[in-house]
Amino acid sequence: MLTEAGFDAALNLMKIPVDQKDELPIKSVEIQEIVNKIIDSPAPKDYIPIGAKAKTTTHKISLRKRGFRQAVIEAYDCRCAVCGLKLHAPHAYSWEVQAAHIVPRSKQGKDDIWNGVALCRLHHWAFDVGWFTLQNNYSIQISSQTKSLLPNIGKMNNIDFFQQLTTNKKIYLPEKVSLYPHSNSLNWHRQNIFQP
Ligand SMILES: [Zn+2]
Repeated sequence: MLTEAGFDAALNLMKIPVDQKDELPIKSVEIQEIVNKIIDSPAPKDYIPIGAKAKTTTHKISLRKRGFRQAVIEAYDCRCAVCGLKLHAPHAYSWEVQAAHIVPRSKQGKDDIWNGVALCRLHHWAFDVGWFTLQNNYSIQISSQTKSLLPNIGKMNNIDFFQQLTTNKKIYLPEKVSLYPHSNSLNWHRQNIFQP
């Protein structure tokens, strides 16, 4: 496995801009260490999903960000927790699934596995705008506002995007219970993002 410096050199050789590293799923030794640390940490009883602005360097923040993304995606086996979609484009190196923050980064949400959930692009967007949220038992709660949408909204041919968001349906969860989203993160999302 390459180190970050080796990784940069390899990207240079392939003429791939180094800043695209954030989008590539290849892990360096440093990223693997962060992933291991995230995956092996015991779940805290009382967890605060919001952190003060980090005082660390941008380099460290970027490593942590990539480590968070890898850890969340691996924990959910590269699947969307809502629809189970596991997909990548023919020429893409990375899975379509994204590591969503439950308390968003814009609100100082932490890059911790207990503040993360793997979602496809559509469900990530719907979660971020508050179309749905999660109960503490990991079942889906849909915004009642979806009922006022026009019947053809959220539909593409025969696919009904909102249909996968079924109230009370449980999401797919990681194998290890210690990696499940924390109830404090979910409480925050229900109170601050969700549109009941
Ligand atoms: Zn999905």
